[in-house]
Amino acid sequence: MQELHDAPLAPLTTFRLGGPATRLLTATTDDEVIAAVREADASGTPLLVIGGGSNLVIGDKGFEGTALRIATRGFTLDGTDLTLAAGENWSDAVARTVAAGLAGIECLAGIPGSAGATPIQNVGAYGQEVSSTIAEVVAYDRTAGETVTLSNAECAFSYRHSRFKEHPDRFVVLRVRFALEDAGGLSAPIKYAETARTLGVEAGERVPAADARETVLKLRAGKGMVLDPEDHDTWSAGSFFTNPVLTEAQHADFLARVHERLGADVTPPAFPAGEGRVKTSAAWLIDRAGFTKGYGDGPARISTKHTLALTNRGGATTEDLLALAREVREGVRAAFGITLVNEPVTVGVTL
Ligand SMILES: Cc1cc2nc3c(=O)[nH]c(=O)nc-3n(C[C@H](O)[C@H](O)[C@H](O)COP(=O)(O)OP(=O)(O)OC[C@H]3O[C@@H](n4cnc5c(N)ncnc54)[C@H](O)[C@@H]3O)c2cc1C
Repeated sequence: MQELHDAPLAPLTTFRLGGPATRLLTATTDDEVIAAVREADASGTPLLVIGGGSNLVIGDKGFEGTALRIATRGFTLDGTDLTLAAGENWSDAVARTVAAGLAGIECLAGIPGSAGATPIQNVGAYGQEVSSTIAEVVAYDRTAGETVTLSNAECAFSYRHSRFKEHPDRFVVLRVRFALEDAGGLSAPIKYAETARTLGVEAGERVPAADARETVLKLRAGKGMVLDPEDHDTWSAGSFFTNPVLTEAQHADFLARVHERLGADVTPPAFPAGEGRVKTSAAWLIDRAGFTKGYGDGPARISTKHTLALTNRGGATTEDLLALAREVREGVRAAFGITLVNEPVTVGVTL
């Protein structure tokens, strides 16, 4: 197992932000992962698990403890049954399942990071979420001190949330098993309106899975949502805030504020989000609160392609990023009475 001391973490994150870790281990087998976790837990050393670093905001002071980078490999496709080691690159794995003619995760192409992190926040985009295809998750349970297999129901998935996110220090994901679909090379039914429109089909129709994947990749690239080291709009964690889910009373209050501020004819986006709940768009709120694309004059700014991505233009510190995030959050709260919640995981800092 590779071991480094006083190791910079910024290069391991897509924000390129954060100070060093006291110790950085890179594990390439499940045994190494488990040994590293057990050792840290036995000695009471704080542990930070890192996959692709695409959903992490690490403080400028870094991490006092052991950072464990998961670099395990394993892609096994047996019929429609896909098992991925935690360290597999997610987007590459999606491409391979589409090439094999399978459906279920094609619209999750281009999402950076590792397969093992996908259950953590129930990764989703363009009408798909991993919770629809995950059959089970094999994880090391730090409380029980053993490897466990969790069924889909036991993962308690919801919008950008799961049991793993609820108990961040309990499970280290080792493998994820997906039940994909063989629809003769076709995608799952296209749910997202923008994807359907771009593909020239009605929502609910199927298209060749490869077309769905390519269309999503194009749409994502146009929004700076596919990693490109040359493009500072992608030095981000993707969406910085989750879309707020409101009760009916909160939604009514929100609509009243929108009408008062922007006029009675303005209708904010609203999507059903379960019994008595409405989801609205964080990007819309940010934009309408006055934080438009490219907002900011420092080294941390809103992406020029998407209002929901906060970005490092090069030379930013985590404090610069957090200052911008707080400004946006306070501005939205003042304008619309809604408090945005950050999507990326913060380490050693809070928003
Ligand atoms: C340009 C861009 C676009 C994005 N688009 C999307 C999108 O469309 N939809 C979406 O949902 N997300 C999106 N994201 C966010 C991010 O890519 C996902 O959340 C991804 O799953 C994070 O994977 P990672 O391996 O990089 O995790 P990391 O950032 O390394 O870690 C994130 C969290 O997961 C934990 N973790 C990582 N691996 C494990 C493991 N094996 N076991 C236990 N815990 C673990 C970490 O400790 C941390 O708490 C985007 C990010 C970027 C930069």
